[in-house]
Amino acid sequence: MIYLDHAATTPVRKEALEAMLPYFSELDANASASYSSARRARSAVEHARMQVSKAIGANKPEIYFVSGGTEADNWALFGPAAANGRRKRIVTTTIEHHAVLHTCKKLEREGYEVIYLRPDSNGQIQISDARASINDNTLLVSVMLANNETGVIQPVAEIAELSHKAGALMHTDAVQAVGHIPIDVNKLGVDLLSLSAHKFYGPKGIGALYAKSGVRMGTLMYGGEQERGMRPGTENVPAIVGMGKAIELAIQEIEDDMKRLASLRDLLEAQLMDIDGIRINGKDAKRLPGHIHLTVSGQESSMLLARLDMQGIAASAGSACASGSIKRSHVLESMFPDEKQAADIRLSLGCSNHAEQMRITAAALKEILNS
Ligand code: PLP
Repeated sequence: MIYLDHAATTPVRKEALEAMLPYFSELDANASASYSSARRARSAVEHARMQVSKAIGANKPEIYFVSGGTEADNWALFGPAAANGRRKRIVTTTIEHHAVLHTCKKLEREGYEVIYLRPDSNGQIQISDARASINDNTLLVSVMLANNETGVIQPVAEIAELSHKAGALMHTDAVQAVGHIPIDVNKLGVDLLSLSAHKFYGPKGIGALYAKSGVRMGTLMYGGEQERGMRPGTENVPAIVGMGKAIELAIQEIEDDMKRLASLRDLLEAQLMDIDGIRINGKDAKRLPGHIHLTVSGQESSMLLARLDMQGIAASAGSACASGSIKRSHVLESMFPDEKQAADIRLSLGCSNHAEQMRITAAALKEILNS
C-alpha cells in the first residue's frame, strides 16, 4: 500500500511504542498513588510534560494533557468563556476544524457573537479582515496554524498581535503543524495552542493544551485533582509517554524531514501539472511541506478515491471526519464558493513515502483521469 493520508493519522513510531510498553505492564500504576511504581509513572508523566513544553518553547506548567486535538480545541474556547466577564465576541475562521467550528456554534447558542473570517482563493486568512473584526468586545480569537485540508499556514503571529492590542486572547489549533514545522509559542505570541500526538507519530487519544501562565480558564470536566485540578481523570500514562517521545524525536528530525517531504511533494506536483482540469490548492501560499490538495474539475471525489484505493493508494477527500459524506468540505467551499462538480483529493506525505511512490501515484491518477 502507498499511504498518502498522514494528515488523517500517522503510525506510532517504534521508539514511542517501545517507550510506552513498560507503562502497560510492570509500571502500570496510577500516577497519583504513592508507592514506588506509581512514583515512576508520575515522573514519566512529568518527563513527557517537559518534552512537550520544550518542543513548542513553553514552560512545563503551561502544558495540560488531554485526550487529543478535539478536547484541546473545545477547552481552548469553552475555558476562557467560562472565566469571562463582559466580552461577548469570538473571532475565528470558516476553515477551522469542526472541533473549533462546532464549539463556536454552541457558544453562539449561549449568546456569543462569532465572526467567521473567510480565506482568499489560496486558502489564506487576510490580516486586514482580522483587524476589521477584532474589537474591545472580543474575548478570544481562534485561527488555526495550518489547515488540515490544504496545509496552508495562517498568519497567526500577526493576528495574535492584533488580538492582544484589543485585549483579547489568541488560540491556535496547531494540530496539523506540531512536529512538522518549527513552533515557538512565544514567537507566535499565542495564549492557547492545541496539539495531538497521532499527527506526529505518537499514539491516538492523547494531546495537550498549552495555556500561557496567567490565562484565566474554566474547566471542561469536574472530578479529581489531576493536571493541577484543571483536567480531572486518571492519566493515560503510556499514551503520555509515547507522545513525549514522539514529539522529542519529531523536533530533532524536523529540518531534514521538512526538506525531504517538500522535495517529494514538488516531485509529485510537477508530474500532476499536465493533467487536464487539475488545480493544486494553496500552491501560491506558504504550506506544510507534506500536504498536496488537488481539485479536478468535472470529477467526483468518491470515484477517484475508490479507484486509487483499488490501485493500493490510500488518500482522502479532506478531513477524515468529513470523508464518507458526499458534501464538499467547508474549507473548499469557503475558498471557491461558486465552484460546481469538482473532486477534491488530499495527498499527505510522511515517513514511509519515497520518490518511486510519487511516480506510481502520478501515473495512477493520470490513468484514472484519462480512462
Ligand atoms: N484540529 C485539526 C486541525 C485536525 O486536523 C484534527 C484532526 O484531524 C483535530 C483538530 C482533532 O484532533 P483529534 O483527532 O486528536 O481529536
